[in-house]
Amino acid sequence: MAPMVSFVFFLFLISIATGRAQAPKQSRNITTGFSIHPTIDPTSWLSPSGRFAFGFYQKNGNGFEVGIWLVGDKRIVVWTAFRDDPPLTSNVNLNFTKKGNLLLRTEQGQEKLIAGATAAAYASMLDSGNFVLYDKDSKIIWQSFEHPTDTILGGQTLFNGGRLVSSLTEFSTGRFHLEMQMDGNLVLYPANTGNTPGDAYWSTDTAPCGNSKCQLVLYLNNTGLLAIFNGTSLKHPVCDGGSDNTGNTIYRATLDSDGIFRLYSHAYDDSGNFNGSNTVWEALKSLCEVKSFCGFNSYCTYNDNKPYCNCLPGTNSSFVGSGVSLGCERNFPEAGCRGGKEINATFYSIETMKNMHWKDRPYAEASMSEEDCKRSCLEECNCGAALFDSQGISKLCRKYSLPLTFVRRLDEGKGGFTAFLKVGTRRIKSGINETVHTPKKPLVVVRKTAIVQILLMTFGFTVFSVVSLTISGLFIFKSRVFRYERLLENGNVGPAEEITLRLFTYNELKRATNGFKEEIGKGSFGAVYKGALYKAKRLVAVKRLEKVIEDGEREFRAEMQAIGRTHHRNLVRLLGYCAEGSKRLLVYEYLSNGSLADLLFRAPMRPDWNDRVRIAQDVARGILYLHEECEAPIIHCDIKPHNILMDEFWTAKISDFGLAKLLMPDQTRTFTGVRGTRGYLAPEWQKNTPISVKADVYSYGIVLFEILCCRRNLELDISNNDEMILSDWIYQCFLAGELEKIVKWEEVDKITLENMIKAGLWCIQDEPALRPSMKSVLLMLEGITDVSVPPCPTARTT
Ligand code: ATP
Repeated sequence: MAPMVSFVFFLFLISIATGRAQAPKQSRNITTGFSIHPTIDPTSWLSPSGRFAFGFYQKNGNGFEVGIWLVGDKRIVVWTAFRDDPPLTSNVNLNFTKKGNLLLRTEQGQEKLIAGATAAAYASMLDSGNFVLYDKDSKIIWQSFEHPTDTILGGQTLFNGGRLVSSLTEFSTGRFHLEMQMDGNLVLYPANTGNTPGDAYWSTDTAPCGNSKCQLVLYLNNTGLLAIFNGTSLKHPVCDGGSDNTGNTIYRATLDSDGIFRLYSHAYDDSGNFNGSNTVWEALKSLCEVKSFCGFNSYCTYNDNKPYCNCLPGTNSSFVGSGVSLGCERNFPEAGCRGGKEINATFYSIETMKNMHWKDRPYAEASMSEEDCKRSCLEECNCGAALFDSQGISKLCRKYSLPLTFVRRLDEGKGGFTAFLKVGTRRIKSGINETVHTPKKPLVVVRKTAIVQILLMTFGFTVFSVVSLTISGLFIFKSRVFRYERLLENGNVGPAEEITLRLFTYNELKRATNGFKEEIGKGSFGAVYKGALYKAKRLVAVKRLEKVIEDGEREFRAEMQAIGRTHHRNLVRLLGYCAEGSKRLLVYEYLSNGSLADLLFRAPMRPDWNDRVRIAQDVARGILYLHEECEAPIIHCDIKPHNILMDEFWTAKISDFGLAKLLMPDQTRTFTGVRGTRGYLAPEWQKNTPISVKADVYSYGIVLFEILCCRRNLELDISNNDEMILSDWIYQCFLAGELEKIVKWEEVDKITLENMIKAGLWCIQDEPALRPSMKSVLLMLEGITDVSVPPCPTARTT
C-alpha cells in the first residue's frame, strides 16, 4: 500500500511544484467575461460531476459569502474567500473580467481580487474540490488548494509551515489552529497563544526533523489516507480511512469549530447520488482535552457523557447568550488594596475544588501548609486562585492572578491539585453591587459602659448633623435665589455650568456661528462650526448632525438629556442642542488646543513623557466614567485620538460619546453595521458577535500605544517593515525584553513604561473576555496593581 501512496503523492507534488498541471479532460472551463450574482441563477460554477461548487453561498439568513462547497444533502463549505469580512449583500457580483481577473464587486463599487492572480485565460472548478485559474498555456497560476482555510480534501497537501484555522459556525476565523510546523510536527493549538509546547493539545510527535532541509507535509489522498510525508516517502500515517478505491467517496479533513481535527468521508452511488457522510477518524475523543474549549476562568466537566463548561466559583459568564465557552468574569467587586494586601479581607472567602489543573504561570510559589496557602491567597490583592500541591515532601502553594486559562477538573485519581478560589461575599449584577450574603460578624460581648458611650456619641453626632444641615441649607437657598434673580435680570440662562442642557433655536445657533461661517472641521456625523454665545463670552463648537437615523424629536431630546447628564473632567461638555424639524445640532464647549491626533502626529515637538502618561490616564478616566460611573453605561464605539480634544490646560477630554447611541439606540445588540474607525476597531466588530464595553477597551489599547510612541498604529511609510504595525512591533519588543526601543531610548520611568505596555497588550487581546475593565486598566496605569504578563494579543501576531 505505502509504495503506491508514495507514487500518487509523488506525482501530485511534482504537479504542484512545477505548476504545470494541465486542465483535466473532464473539467468544465469557465471563460473570461462571465459573472455570477448571489440571487440570480447561476449563483455558482459547478464541477463536472456537480459535486463541488464555487460561487455565492448564503450565510444563515444573513448575507452571502464567496466560497467552495460540497453539494450534498446539506452544503459543506470547504473554502471561503475573505472569511473575516462582513457578509455580502445581494447587490454584489463576481466577475471573471475580460482581462482575466476574478473580481468581487461590492455595492459601493469596491473591487476585490478573489484569487491572488491576474490575467488568467480560464478557470475550472475541478471534481477534486480545487478551484483553479490557468494562463493561456494551461499552466496553473492560482488554486484554492494552496490557500486552505479549515479543510484539506483528497489530493490536497498542507505544506511545511502551512496552517488550518478552524471556523466559527459562520465560517469566519475560529479559535483553533492546526500547524504543519517547520520542524515537522503537526500540532493543534488554541488561537491567541504563543504556540509553545505548553499550549499544544494534540500533536503527531513527528518532530524534530533533525536537519534544516526537512520538508514534512501533511497529505490526504483520494482513498482516505491522511499522512505525514517526507519528500516522497511516508513518514507517519495519521489515519488510514481508505477503503474505497472506486472514486465514489470524497475525503475531507477539517479542523472543526470545536477544535478537533477530523477526517470525514462523503459517499456517492454509481449514478452520482449522494449516499451519506461518516466521521472516519478524530484526533481527540474528549472535548475537555481541547485547550480553551472552555473560555477563561471556566472549566470543563462531563455530565451524561457530554462536555460542559462551567464558570469557576467567583465568576459569571461574561457573554450573555454565548455560553461560558467564551469565558467568565469576576462577579464581585474589589475591596481595595494597600501595599499588595486586601484592605478588607472579609469581602472575600475561599472555595475549594479538588483535582484541578490549569495552564498559567503562578506569580508566586512557596512551600507552606494548606491553611497558610488559603490565607495568603485571601489576603493578597493579586491572588485570584491558588493550587496546593500536597504530593511532594514540601507542600507547595502556587498563587495565580485571574484570568485562568485551560482550566480542567480531572477525574478522580487522574492527577491535578487542590484549588483555592477567591470568591466575593458581595456580587456585581448588571453593574450594581448586590449583597449576596453579608460576612458573619464575630460575636462581641459589649459591656454596659460601652453601650452608654455609644449612645452618647450617637446623640452628639445627631445634634451636630442637624445644626450643620440647617446652616448649609440656608446658604444654598440664598445663593440659588441670588442666581435666579441674576438670570431673570439677564433674560437668558447664562454660562452657568450647573444648569441643565439648554434648548437652542436654529436661528440662535445661526447667529452664534455667524451663519455657520467658521467651519472647524468635518467628521462622520457632519461639520463642526466655531461660535460664541452669551454676548461672545463663551466660545462653543456647534456640530450639525447629518446622519441621525429617523429619531423622533421626543426621542432625540430624551437622548440629549441623557448625554447632558454626563459630567466628567475628561469628557467634552455638551451645553445644549437644537431639534427643529429635521435639523439636529449639538452645542459643545469649545476646546482651544485641537485634538490628541494633532498633538501626537502633527505637532513640531512630541509632548514630554510625563504629559503623555497624564493624558493616557485622563483618557482612561473618561472611558471608565462612561462605562461604569455615569447613570446609564455608554459604549463610545469610536475611541481614537481624533475624538480626544485638549482644553486650554492641556487636559484630555473625550468627545463624540453618546453619538454611537444616537445612531444605534440598542448598544447591546449584535451589530450588523460597523461603527468606529479602522485601525482602532476590536476584532468582534468584524465577527458579528455582541459588542460590549470591551470594544472600547481594545480601541483604548491602540490609542495608549500611539500615545507612548507619538505615531499612528499603522505606518506604511517606514523603513523597517517590522515596525509598520505598532501593536505587533510592541509585542515583539516586549517578548525580546527591549522596552526602551519602543520609546526610542527616551528618558522615561521604566516601571511606568512597562506597566503601560503590559496594560496596552492586555487591552488589545483578540478575546474580549481577556481584556481588563477600564477600572483595572486605570489601576495598572497608576501602578496600584501589578500587571501580569500578557499573552500574545492576536493569532495574527504569532
Ligand atoms: P469622526 O466623526 O469620524 O469621529 P472627527 O472626530 O474628526 O471624526 P468631529 O468630532 O465631528 O469629527 O470633529 C470635526 C473637527 O472639529 C475635528 O477636527 C475636531 O478637532 C473639531 N472639534 C470637534 N468638537 C470640538 C470642540 N468641542 N472644540 C473644538 N474643536 C472641536
